Amino acid sequence: MSDLSKLAASLHLPDEPLRTPMFIDGKDHTGSSAEWVTRKSPGHGVGVTATLRASAGDLDAAVAAARRAFDDGRWSRLSGEQRATVLLKAARLIRDNVETLAYLETLESGKPIGQSRGEVTAAAGIWEYAAGLARVVHGDSHDTLGPDMLGLVLRQPVGVVGIVTPWNFPFFILSERLPFALAAGCTVVVKPAELTSTTTLKLAALLTEAGLPDGVVNVVTGLGSVVGQALAEHMDVDMISFTGSTQVGRAVLAAAGGNMKKVGLELGGKNPQIVFADADLDDAADAIAFGIAFNAGQCCVSGSRLVVHRSVEAELVERIRAVLARVRTGDPLDASNHVGAIVEARQFDKIRGFIDAGTRDGAQLVCGGDTRSEGERFFIQPTVFRNVQPGSALAQDEIFGPVLSVMPFDSFDEAIGLANGVPYGLAASIWTRDLQGAFKSLRDVQAGRIWVNCTITGGPEMPIGGFKQSGIGRETGRYGVEEYTEIKSVHVQLGKRPRWIA
Ligand code: NAD
Repeated sequence: MSDLSKLAASLHLPDEPLRTPMFIDGKDHTGSSAEWVTRKSPGHGVGVTATLRASAGDLDAAVAAARRAFDDGRWSRLSGEQRATVLLKAARLIRDNVETLAYLETLESGKPIGQSRGEVTAAAGIWEYAAGLARVVHGDSHDTLGPDMLGLVLRQPVGVVGIVTPWNFPFFILSERLPFALAAGCTVVVKPAELTSTTTLKLAALLTEAGLPDGVVNVVTGLGSVVGQALAEHMDVDMISFTGSTQVGRAVLAAAGGNMKKVGLELGGKNPQIVFADADLDDAADAIAFGIAFNAGQCCVSGSRLVVHRSVEAELVERIRAVLARVRTGDPLDASNHVGAIVEARQFDKIRGFIDAGTRDGAQLVCGGDTRSEGERFFIQPTVFRNVQPGSALAQDEIFGPVLSVMPFDSFDEAIGLANGVPYGLAASIWTRDLQGAFKSLRDVQAGRIWVNCTITGGPEMPIGGFKQSGIGRETGRYGVEEYTEIKSVHVQLGKRPRWIA
């Protein structure tokens, strides 16, 4: 990546789209159709990368490579120590290439360059953590089954795993799944989002450099409705790990039924920030502003609903407005900007539609609402609405943009009712100085991740995933590696087996 790393260091746009082919069986793969699709940077409106649109045949080749690599044991039968060595080397290579990977991530996703650097660096830490798990994953034993019987519970790799990822955190989300699947001993076919495939392809090449055997990680690019769907349906894939919208997650769940493959789903959210009257309002205001503006609100755990005690509503909203007034939105390659571009025109129009509907439905616009599409560059100022009706689209739907809906409450039960009154259950933040109140609410709120007096923070030690329609299963933490295992119960007869017919 030496020419590319010079370009990345310069932070200039490429003269022409940077082409990256698919990666199958340890080699670049162009496929028979060789249909290149150009990705325009949503922050600059010019073509920056190009990736291939895979055919069904390309997907079959990738699955066949992963199947061979799993069945012959070149990875699945290595020791945990050997697998950990490769994963640690991969982490080092990611760290060596932070600038290049961050540059590509920003070009394709529109997120600020400083944020991309942070995400790639944090992703390297996840690979290091998962390397440790490769040596820790283990089963169980039962020495209590009587004098003649020993019970063993083995954890074995589930097999060939399909990983489908979204565009909002392409490298980071992949790193929350792939090293755990590899630590467990699985082989993998990755289908990244069509808008943001390049860093996934670059990672596959780095993994080969790290010593990963051919065929263990394969990457196919192209349309979700074609390649993603075919991967979810594929009879030779043993598990599908899907991260994306609840709507597509439902289709993936149905597609996986053909061979009853194991399914992991990390889906949408409509996450509450619950603020009690005794909270530190300055702390909460800063975090709530961050929680809605971070990644331009295109974040599954974005705190998009403010559920606040009526007595402090006006004061808190004013403080949030003041913080947001200092947020700079613009060119994602300019490190001084906090918020970059919206990922594409379709997403931009969707967010604008919610803002227009909010105004029409009688919600009160506190700040923002300013949407700019200059040519093919898409920016939206963080937007806050008060007087949002709990049953309205603003309060119920995942907007996936920087739009905060404020709803007041008068009692504890009303707060919990509002917090839980959506089909999602991904994450929630609770703001209070009262320890008892915090514990009471964290027990009652339905969400896979809860933050008390903080928001959108954590590390690979902690599991992530959703309640209700936010998903099935967990990623990261020790649960993250266990997701990619099958459990096998073994009964070992010691001594003579009692006869059925004496
Ligand atoms: P999406 O559901 O449109 O697409 C996600 C991925 O699925 C893409 O790679 C896409 O190509 C693929 N895909 C599309 N149709 C498919 C099909 N029929 N079969 C298989 N794959 C298919 O989501 P998106 O717009 O890329 O991402 C935004 C969504 O992802 C939001 O809803 C967000 O909340 C969710 N998300 C969830 C998490 C989490 O951890 N819970 C993390 C990030 C994003």
